[in-house]
Amino acid sequence: MYDVERIREDFPILKRTIYGKYPLVYLDNAATTQKPRSVVEAMTDEYYNVNANVHRGVHFLSQQATDLHERSRETVRSFLNARSASEIVFTRGTTESINLVANCYAEAFMREGDEVIISEMEHHSNIVSWQLVQARKGIRLRVIPLTDEGYLDMEAYRQLFNEHTRIVSITHVSNVLGTVNPVEEIIRIAHDHDVPVLVDGAQSAPHFAVDVRKLDCDFFAFSGHKLYAPTGIGVLYGKEKWLDRIPPYMGGGEMIKTVTMEKTTYNDLPYKFEAGTPDYVASTGLARALEYVSALGMAHIEAHERDLVQYAMRRMGEIEDVHIFGPKDGRDSVISFRVGDIHHLDMGTLLDRLGIAVRTGHHCAEPLMRRLGVEGTCRASFALYNTRAEVDALVAGIERVRKMF
Ligand code: PMP
Repeated sequence: MYDVERIREDFPILKRTIYGKYPLVYLDNAATTQKPRSVVEAMTDEYYNVNANVHRGVHFLSQQATDLHERSRETVRSFLNARSASEIVFTRGTTESINLVANCYAEAFMREGDEVIISEMEHHSNIVSWQLVQARKGIRLRVIPLTDEGYLDMEAYRQLFNEHTRIVSITHVSNVLGTVNPVEEIIRIAHDHDVPVLVDGAQSAPHFAVDVRKLDCDFFAFSGHKLYAPTGIGVLYGKEKWLDRIPPYMGGGEMIKTVTMEKTTYNDLPYKFEAGTPDYVASTGLARALEYVSALGMAHIEAHERDLVQYAMRRMGEIEDVHIFGPKDGRDSVISFRVGDIHHLDMGTLLDRLGIAVRTGHHCAEPLMRRLGVEGTCRASFALYNTRAEVDALVAGIERVRKMF
């Protein structure tokens, strides 16, 4: 039994009153999720009772902190079903994970004229990271267009491959349209051309089970804070064969084996990519968050959220003059919308006054906004603790704002 009311008890912030409205209706989960007690308490406990820098100490606390940190890595490995914990690199989040791959993969394998395939629905982090490489190395960005329904144009994707294609970097789920991309097929096609694939999992890993071995992706990135974990920690999964062959991202402590003034040898995986003191307390928080969702069951979370999104699509679809962006089917926990010609900022601000938190703007996807022919949208995004009553509150709020205009 998925008992959402009991689950909500684990998230103290959901009991907040905003502008006298109780309880807060938090529908900005695609930006960041709230944290359960177990995550915050584990981190507090580590700071109070265990804290010491990891990996370098012979003393008890350092060993205990190291043990916790490495067990967290194992928890991530198991969550993604990666083959080995050495394929799990801790980063600050999806953005850093993508930048790491863009920089280091391009350094090793891309020359002027080589191409990366991305799509029109990417988050800026999966556009600008490659543009920086473009400016430095003269690579080219090839872009998979979208259909009017908000799906990737798979025929166009197939046509983009040529002898210069070196990597595909694609989002698993759109943070604006909610489209769940057919990444298994995308990966199969890329592999037929001997091209590796980076999957941006920022909006997928929190919502359904991801099995990197089943997907056969070469790299997979996600952020802890969108998955009930703290800010400042994220993950890059990479197949060992790639992580072994690409150079380090940053230099510093931890990523080395030996250093002389003339020459440095690098540490083993994954430490080669983890220069400096890692956020070992955040990794504990991440592990507790992954344990939390795993105990609920990713399949149960997925079913709950899909039900919620279908309900929201139906209820919001009844609002006069509403326009919902993105596909009707094959979508995940994000609903971008506009109502008539009400500006998204007005809508967001007035909903906020009703105690309903949604996001407004371009959602770090300006090329997609251009494709949709809008400056911005309102976006409601759902998490494991949201309820049908909150959808009703959102719909009632939108109706109220619509009548004001
Ligand atoms: N990719 C997608 C699809 C996202 O939704 C986001 C966050 N909005 C990111 C990448 C970047 O994530 P972060 O800011 O946590 O690095």
